Amino acid sequence: MARTLIINGTVVSPTGRQLIDVLIDGETVVAMYAPGQVEAQGVTADTVIDALGKYVIPGGIDVHTHMELPFGGTNASDTFETGSRAAAWGGVTTIVDFAVQRYGENVIDSLGEWHAKAAGECAIDYAFHQIVGGIDDEALKAMRYLTENEGVTSFKLFMAYPGVFYSDDGQILRAMQTAGDIGATIMMHAENGIAIDVLVGQAIARGETDPKYHSYTRPSLLEGEATHRAIILSQVAGNAPLYIVHVSASDALLEIAAARDAGRNVFAETCPQYLYMTLEETLAKPGFEGAKWVCSPPVRSAHDTHHHHADLWKGLRTNDIAIVSTDHCPFCMKDQKELGLGNFSKIPNGMGGVEHRMELLYQGVVNGELTLERWVETCCTTPARMFGMYPKKGIIAPGADADIVIWDPATQTRIGINDKHHMNIDHSSWEGYVIDGKVETVLSRGTVVIADDAYVGRKGHGQFVRRGLSQYLV
Ligand SMILES: [Zn+2]
Repeated sequence: MARTLIINGTVVSPTGRQLIDVLIDGETVVAMYAPGQVEAQGVTADTVIDALGKYVIPGGIDVHTHMELPFGGTNASDTFETGSRAAAWGGVTTIVDFAVQRYGENVIDSLGEWHAKAAGECAIDYAFHQIVGGIDDEALKAMRYLTENEGVTSFKLFMAYPGVFYSDDGQILRAMQTAGDIGATIMMHAENGIAIDVLVGQAIARGETDPKYHSYTRPSLLEGEATHRAIILSQVAGNAPLYIVHVSASDALLEIAAARDAGRNVFAETCPQYLYMTLEETLAKPGFEGAKWVCSPPVRSAHDTHHHHADLWKGLRTNDIAIVSTDHCPFCMKDQKELGLGNFSKIPNGMGGVEHRMELLYQGVVNGELTLERWVETCCTTPARMFGMYPKKGIIAPGADADIVIWDPATQTRIGINDKHHMNIDHSSWEGYVIDGKVETVLSRGTVVIADDAYVGRKGHGQFVRRGLSQYLV
């Protein structure tokens, strides 16, 4: 097996940073050495990577992506091949995507379909959550089967999208009772979709059809309300593990913080768009351009009663928000977002971001919002522990997979369609952002996949990761 030595770098973990040399044998980290010990012990390797002045961090883990998701009459424009490659460009070495079961479909069959889409396609490792769009006796049995046999231990439900993915409160309660029984995690899209659909219908009837009305018809109050309801239902289900996906608003964060203060098994993630973007600068652009930023929950206004950005950054520091994911779900403007010309409710929901999460959150370190260690924790280590992949993933330590990013803090990254852009979309939601720092080298299970500004990996290198239960439960 080939041995690789990464020397002179500063290894960063959630608990600190340290000058340390890392020895990889094959796919695994096998040893770590204090400065000078490599020479003293005569350690040799086939390849030596000098990381002087660089950070050496665990590969990023994005636990919320939707490659090829069928939505609104089209499919998300990144395949597992293109999307996982773009992820590698962004310093991500594991994605957790969502298999989708709709009402009337068989859960286990739907997981098989997603395995077929991803197998042999990925540049980096991948795992699955299961979306359950139709909770019934059979689906509950399938949840148990997937958790015990298939390495799929988390189940996403929707309080939004009536008629598509929606579960009512009774279905949610039953799923939570089952999850509580088997130790699985319920992931919740918490927006009150029934009320939102009323507001959407009324807006369209008034002729309010531009993209910005997507945000106005999904007020943060209805995200807060649904978050509260999900938390109470999980309490009624005996403190069933609950993970609120893509928190966009202070209203929801307040509910999560209260539940966590009360000691409940409630966890949350946010996404870069909710930390950086405002309605005014995105959805409200003139004409149809705002369609690029239509996602749910929506990007919030800078003029709300709450300061959503500041509150979400604070939530990340206090651990009320444990993880940053992307909800990567790209759609091109041409032929895809354009389905909603003249009616914002027909715009496919989602934006591309899997390539930029590590960069955008590192900017949070530079801006004084997060420590370097917290950056690694929220983007690499906690995702692994929350979704049962630690210590194989999420940490640089002997025995762990050699998923490693070498990060250059002294360079900048320009994001944009003619700059850094490897996702399969005809625009960038992050056009014009200039970020301090840069993904320099990426190793996936010991194999270099990004180096010298080139992708040197291969389709099919990525393997399916069977996950265990959340490691944050007592
Ligand atoms: Zn999603």
